[in-house]
Amino acid sequence: MKSHRHLPVTFPQVGRLIVGHHGLMSTPACSCVIRKFKAIGGIILTASHNPAGPDGDFGIKFSTANGGPANDAITNKIYQISRTIEEFAICPGLRLDLTTLGKQTFDLENKFKPFTVEIVDAVESYANLMRNIFDFAALKELLSGEDHIKIRLDAMHGVVGPYVKRILCDELGCPDNCAINCVPMEDFGGHRADPNLIYAVDLIDSMRDGEYDFGAAFDSDGDRNMILGKHGLFVTPSDSLAVIADNIFCIPYFQHRGVRGLARSMPTSAALDRVAKATKIELYETPTGWKFFGNLMDAGRLSLCGEESFGTSGDHIREKDGLWAALAWLTIMASRRQSVEEILQYHWIKYGRNYFTRYDYENIDIDAACEMMEDVELLIADKTFVRQRFAVEDKIYQVEKADNFEYTDPVDSSITRNQGLRIIFSDGSRIIYRLSGTSSDGATVRIYLETYEKEAVFQETQVVLAPLATIALKISQLHHRTGRTGPSVIT
Ligand code: MG
Repeated sequence: MKSHRHLPVTFPQVGRLIVGHHGLMSTPACSCVIRKFKAIGGIILTASHNPAGPDGDFGIKFSTANGGPANDAITNKIYQISRTIEEFAICPGLRLDLTTLGKQTFDLENKFKPFTVEIVDAVESYANLMRNIFDFAALKELLSGEDHIKIRLDAMHGVVGPYVKRILCDELGCPDNCAINCVPMEDFGGHRADPNLIYAVDLIDSMRDGEYDFGAAFDSDGDRNMILGKHGLFVTPSDSLAVIADNIFCIPYFQHRGVRGLARSMPTSAALDRVAKATKIELYETPTGWKFFGNLMDAGRLSLCGEESFGTSGDHIREKDGLWAALAWLTIMASRRQSVEEILQYHWIKYGRNYFTRYDYENIDIDAACEMMEDVELLIADKTFVRQRFAVEDKIYQVEKADNFEYTDPVDSSITRNQGLRIIFSDGSRIIYRLSGTSSDGATVRIYLETYEKEAVFQETQVVLAPLATIALKISQLHHRTGRTGPSVIT
């Protein structure tokens, strides 16, 4: 389709595009570049974490001038406008050279004239941002000095590979074999580029024998991260966030700028809340989705945030940032001269431990999933539900509060409803149900389980949470409704 008629007057005349070298940018680098070049926004074509292409996954994301995901008001507006599009222009003759850095100018038959495309080194822009956040000299000493530690980073064949190579290997002196799967591939090497205990198998296998002191994996677009200690010790994203918060002043960026606030998504464990309380830093509990954090950051109210789904970041950009999280952990290790295990154990002893797990039920019948959510909502809305007691073996949980989480944005007062059904018990334990998405294959229901132990901090997570899981399944009747016998994935 080709049209040369004039565009509607409301259409902004875009005359300059900025594209990453080879057409690639990680999501955090994209946020960094939008902010650095003061772009009016950015379009990210992404395969998420699944194999991409015509038979795979593909999405288009729009970021606003702050470098973060567009909010609902904007995406709704885009949708409304999309319903009235009558024509669009394409440039079949435009041939871009994505391999050469610098400006290329095109004459598009007097339309959008002059039309400039600039190929930028997004890796360098991002690396420069990191240099201004962290102490690279201290990191270099940790990673390649006399008593250096050994690390292993897995880019999972996503776009973050070149960033890992440039920053960790070229600049901080790590040997080449510290960075694996660093060549970006369209199909992610046939794997799901998902940094978790199920899909990051290469990393977990190589960590097992204790050769490496620190491990991290990143997802396809580099915004999510998983942190591991020696022998593959798993740090939950909720704990990772709390540990970074507790050690935030190890990071030069926060030493200079101070810390305005901490935030977590609602299902993320309350480990962060304990740090916020102890440090008297404001805490925000938001719905899932990075845009809620971005709003608080733009208003100067938030410095560090994270989600249980392996997202962590600061206010240097408006996206989650996988590599930043790894550098934050390495900075804490350098500053405290402790291992991941020692840092984590110290944290639990200091604050107690929020045991946390997530059960994912994937591809379940949509009607059954919706019915379950409706029934649970009705049940917990009943006045008699609060104060009700649930007993499993010798554990007794008493309901203190139950609701369908809604959030009033403290900045713009917008209200976001239906963000998950919460059952909060008197000891702080929580059961949360979320219907987290539907597709042609069915729905995904997530059950989040969390319990707090002040003293018994070295137990097995799934053992500690087993009674709560029993209660969660009893309340929801999920297995009975779906014929399942267990979750598809346990995180
Ligand atoms: Mg991602």
